[in-house]
Amino acid sequence: AVPVALVSGLSRAAGIGVLIKGGGALEMLAKVRVLVVDKTGTLTHGATRLTSARILGGLDEGEVLGLAASLEQASGHPLARALIEEAVRRGLTLSQPEAVEETPGEGLTGLVEGRPVIVGGAHLMRMHGVPFPSRDEAAGIPAVAATVLVAVDGAAAAVLAFADPLRADGGNALLELRACGIERVVLATGDRRAVAEALVAGLPVDAVAADLDPTAKTDTVTAARRLGPVMMVGDGVNDAPALAAADLGVALGARGAAAAAEAADIVLLVDSLAPLPRAIRIAKRARAIAL
Ligand code: ADP
Ligand code: MG
Repeated sequence: AVPVALVSGLSRAAGIGVLIKGGGALEMLAKVRVLVVDKTGTLTHGATRLTSARILGGLDEGEVLGLAASLEQASGHPLARALIEEAVRRGLTLSQPEAVEETPGEGLTGLVEGRPVIVGGAHLMRMHGVPFPSRDEAAGIPAVAATVLVAVDGAAAAVLAFADPLRADGGNALLELRACGIERVVLATGDRRAVAEALVAGLPVDAVAADLDPTAKTDTVTAARRLGPVMMVGDGVNDAPALAAADLGVALGARGAAAAAEAADIVLLVDSLAPLPRAIRIAKRARAIAL
């Protein structure tokens, strides 16, 4: 039987939008010492937008954006949403993509109006043998911008740059987590190092692990467990294995991927990191009473 103090802790946490899947998870929440946190969609969110597009092939910008946004309709990724928003804002007509394959943390391939389209990171383009110019050659794309590469008909078509700022409450949440027992914070991202380091400059983050595929993210969590009980917080399909590997997986449930919520021990029902420090305090109190 779960002691009554734990039951009451679970219900108080639910009251602030923190769904804890059982007494064991509540107890672990009181014990975590290390935070591994995802970047895109977790530390950032809410104001992601396309800021520039560098067209590489002979297609016009509207055509490339339309094809890329059409394919991104199959993804729940925050950059996918921002791209679709921009396409709609420009009045572009989107088509239903076909034969879509998503590689978590990398991007998508599929057919749009019968044409092969790829949207995603540099690794995905290399895997499909599509050469892209180096960053230096992709003039006008800021080094610290999150980017999405687009290939159409097997050739490089565009480099899209996005502003993906910190959540309004992101910095504060990290400071508060430090104040309630988190001794070490590691940022783990599938994005490039320059983007990640620029985002967390000035924040209480001890280490940045970048360019991670879902397996490498999981390895980062496993390595961090040597330092103490690890809480991993993430939102994406690519975070699901890392969430499962942590002592405590926390998923952003409001707009995050279903796979992340399923793999997690705790789901934040509100689209915010703000309730997490309060939930830790609730857990510590419940545990002190239950012991
Ligand atoms: P994080 O681990 O910080 O949440 P992701 O691994 O989700 O970041 O994304 C890292 C990079 O992978 C993006 O900047 C983008 O280049 C590429 N990417 C991942 N998913 C998609 C997608 N659905 N569409 C376009 N690009 C994607
Ligand atoms: Mg993410």
